[in-house]
Amino acid sequence: MKVVIDWLASCGGCDVSILDLGVKILDVIGEFEIVYWPVALDFKKKDLESLDKADIAIVNGAVRTSEQEEQVKLIRDKVDVLIAYGSCACFGGIPGLGNQFDADEILKRAYVETPSTTEGKIPQPVTKLNDTELTLPKFLDKVKPLDEVVEVDYYVPGCPPSASTIEEMVELLLKLKKGEKPEKRVLASDKSLCYECPRFKSLVRPPTINRPHEIVADQERCFLEQGIICLGFVTRGGCGARCIKANMPCRGCYGKVPNAVDFGTEAITAIAMAGTGEDYLPPMRITEAIDKIKDVVGLIYQFCLPKSKLGDLK
Ligand code: SF4
Ligand code: SF4
Ligand code: SF4
Repeated sequence: MKVVIDWLASCGGCDVSILDLGVKILDVIGEFEIVYWPVALDFKKKDLESLDKADIAIVNGAVRTSEQEEQVKLIRDKVDVLIAYGSCACFGGIPGLGNQFDADEILKRAYVETPSTTEGKIPQPVTKLNDTELTLPKFLDKVKPLDEVVEVDYYVPGCPPSASTIEEMVELLLKLKKGEKPEKRVLASDKSLCYECPRFKSLVRPPTINRPHEIVADQERCFLEQGIICLGFVTRGGCGARCIKANMPCRGCYGKVPNAVDFGTEAITAIAMAGTGEDYLPPMRITEAIDKIKDVVGLIYQFCLPKSKLGDLK
């Protein structure tokens, strides 16, 4: 089977995560012919364009530029099965937080306003490099997950996907190779992460909100009971609770559980229950607690702002 692997608006972590398979990679490497993987081998776009047909594409990263939009459409035309790999591809991911700002504001910040920039200039659509005229890709108005541009067959969430999720994807690839057609789905649990979290949950109300660096969290007790916001209750399981096991709260990189309408609104609803009646925080402490959330959008939509049902948050 011919496999295309490509990256769009991505940090590169998803490509590297494929190596997390460790020695198991040797079991599968001979089963597939990788016909395009520019991050690992010297492929150029013309190699993809000249490709007659491939079977499967594994694409990581979101769509931020016109070039990436064209690229993923080109890939879709060449393959039978397209897998959105990683949170950026599935939900917009970290680059998706850019949807809080206008494209012009982002370019100004990046090229002119950063503290280390002097006499910065925003690159023009047509620019010259060593006397050669280049037409730059357009920076789109918003970041899009892959399924806003092309049809996606399978979603492999995670920032990056965990080794066990990648193993599940390999099993899927082997089934596809045998001619089976497993139903289209998200390769993660339909239950929340709390179901696979090993921590003790007593539903004790915390006295305040603590940021993770402010206390040494008890490794046995639910983070929420210690006042540390953990979003495991609204997040799909499947990662093996890997942040929790490293004593860090979940930030939701596997996306929302299927029965949640919207990740951020579900998360903020639970947090906002603080301070009323017999709920979460004593009322006197609510303002102090809210002040501890330094970046609300960054917290509740860290990986999925482009999928928000609230629409444009600019
Ligand atoms: S999902 Fe995470 S690891 Fe993968 S490209 Fe996006 S930011 Fe990087
Ligand atoms: S909220 Fe977080 S720490 Fe608490 S049970 Fe769920 S995943 Fe575990
Ligand atoms: S614990 Fe949460 S943030 Fe960490 S890998 Fe799992 S789903 Fe992602």
